[in-house]
Amino acid sequence: MKHDSERHLSAIVDNAIDAIISISTNDSILSINNATEQLFGYSRDELVGRNVSILMPEPSSGEHDSYIQNFLRTGEAKIIGKGREVIGKHKDGHELPLELGVTESITNGERMFIGVLRDISGRREAEGRIRTSEKRLQKSQEFANIGTWDWNIETNDLYWSERIAPLFGYGKGELETSYDNFLNAVHPDDRQAVGDAVTACVEEGAEYNIEHRVVWPDGAVRWLLEKGDVVRNSDGKPLHMLGVVQDITRAKRAEQALVLAKEEADQANQAKSEFLSSMSHELRTPLNAIIGFSQLLEMDEEDLDEEQRQSVQQINQGGHHLLELVNEVLDLAKIEAGKLTLSVERIDPVEILESGVTLIKGMAASRQITVVDGTADCPDVLMQADSTRVKQVLLNLLSNAVKYNKVGGTLTLSAALTPDNMLRISVADSGIGIPEHRRGEVFQAFSRLSAENSEIEGTGIGLTIAQRLVSMMGGELGFESVAGEGSTFWFDLPCMPKNSAQTGETDRDEPHDIGIDIVDGNHSVLYIEDNQANRDLMGQVAGRFAKVSLQTAHSAEIGVALAEQILPDIILMDINLPGMDGFDALRCLRDNERTRTIPVIALSANAMPGEIDRGLQAGFLGYLTKPFSIPGLIALLNKGLSQER
Ligand code: ADP
Repeated sequence: MKHDSERHLSAIVDNAIDAIISISTNDSILSINNATEQLFGYSRDELVGRNVSILMPEPSSGEHDSYIQNFLRTGEAKIIGKGREVIGKHKDGHELPLELGVTESITNGERMFIGVLRDISGRREAEGRIRTSEKRLQKSQEFANIGTWDWNIETNDLYWSERIAPLFGYGKGELETSYDNFLNAVHPDDRQAVGDAVTACVEEGAEYNIEHRVVWPDGAVRWLLEKGDVVRNSDGKPLHMLGVVQDITRAKRAEQALVLAKEEADQANQAKSEFLSSMSHELRTPLNAIIGFSQLLEMDEEDLDEEQRQSVQQINQGGHHLLELVNEVLDLAKIEAGKLTLSVERIDPVEILESGVTLIKGMAASRQITVVDGTADCPDVLMQADSTRVKQVLLNLLSNAVKYNKVGGTLTLSAALTPDNMLRISVADSGIGIPEHRRGEVFQAFSRLSAENSEIEGTGIGLTIAQRLVSMMGGELGFESVAGEGSTFWFDLPCMPKNSAQTGETDRDEPHDIGIDIVDGNHSVLYIEDNQANRDLMGQVAGRFAKVSLQTAHSAEIGVALAEQILPDIILMDINLPGMDGFDALRCLRDNERTRTIPVIALSANAMPGEIDRGLQAGFLGYLTKPFSIPGLIALLNKGLSQER
């Protein structure tokens, strides 16, 4: 029976998965099972009777001894699963990670130790793989400066990855993981928003995606981006909230620098526009005197000899050229500042083409250029555009086609529909053309492609303005050119068949009949103006009309006081005056019982449309911009003088 049970036991031992070895008290191997042969690569004969240290690499044999010594000393039973990890040595020399349990046994009166060894290389490998992947994750979080967190909503437990503390300005592991510590690190101005975002995510399922600042212990302020979501059970109950935190300080600073740069650029652009408009304002005032006086001199033609007449004409032409430049600069400033307003309506292109031909004929004739007028072939459509601005664009193209043409060349004006149903107006010339490599400069402001070295007059901004105007009206302006042969400039604008559109007539005011004479009666006019030349000019204009007596004042304060005394029939008021300006002066006149009903006309060098509207709204009868035309002034005077008071 005893024999049977021994055989039974030895069968179990032989077929066990773990290696089982019995060792004598002097470390010699007494017996091994099959698994030991497989594990260590030795046969039974090779091991039995040998010192057990054959199965251990050099440094571990000592450890093993001490382990056995330790076992002997404490008598502590080690069982497999709770054993210690040791290193074994295979017959071929490679090391084996093992778990060892030892127990003491006395068999047939002989004391021995039974060692049970389990191969744990598979487990070790798996652990190694986990460690590598953890390290990789940790490194990638470090490189991306990303931290992760996991908040167990039910238990309130919080987990932070290693990177979280450095994101808040602490060393790894220096900041204790807690929601309070997190909230304390958040910039005080952002705490509410962060708290609200977490609540909204947990309670309403809103996306948790927030940028906020943190204040580091050294006072540095950094930007973090947080994204997260809530994990819920099947009833929708929130269980966990998981999130990632990333340092976005650098991107944020770059973004802030961009915003700042844009603001600065806008300010610089604004300053440029203001400079241009005030420059044009300053230029208008002396121009008013130049053009005004030359107009007066031209009126006295019979008193001038030929040479004087030509000189006056030159002054007048020069003045108008300068005025054109001032207007163009002002236009460009307005376009760039987004202050140019267009009045788009349905207009007949034929009218535009005809007026263009009329205006260009004289100039073309002076250079013996033949104008081929294709107006008659214009399609039967209405254009949708601002009539004044389209005329401006067309005139620019026509005058360029004359200026940059050869003497005796041709200019062809035509209109046709494009495949996408726009009306294309083309101006072709047989002139100098534009070399291929300089085409990019044509629409650059102030660029004249070497024309500045010729006698051809120009500013180099006409086409820049024209192109922008056309694009503001929903169209396009372009050109084709062959150097030495000629160019064709064209612009496309939206249009519609005439019969499908209502007539282009708008209820615009009929132009006033500009009489050159002052209405009947004796009239006293008060002119408030600080510029001496302009006061003199007005004095000469008034001198033409026997029925007009003119008084002048060089400041608004004096003018208002004078008005109360002399009660003039009409007042002409400069706007930009030293001290009180024209608007304040008008208010004073309106507040005074005696001067309340006197019509006041504004005369200003400020030609911005906003200013003109402001003037009319403030109660000026009219708003004339300098340099003013004398018939225009007389028409307004007549309007004021004949009005009921
Ligand atoms: P400018 O006042 O100098 O005429 P524009 O803006 O109208 O200014 O034109 C810019 C430049 O483009 C001109 O200076 C000229 O060199 C060139 N250009 C414009 N139109 C023509 C054309 N029809 N033929 C040749 N060159 C042209």
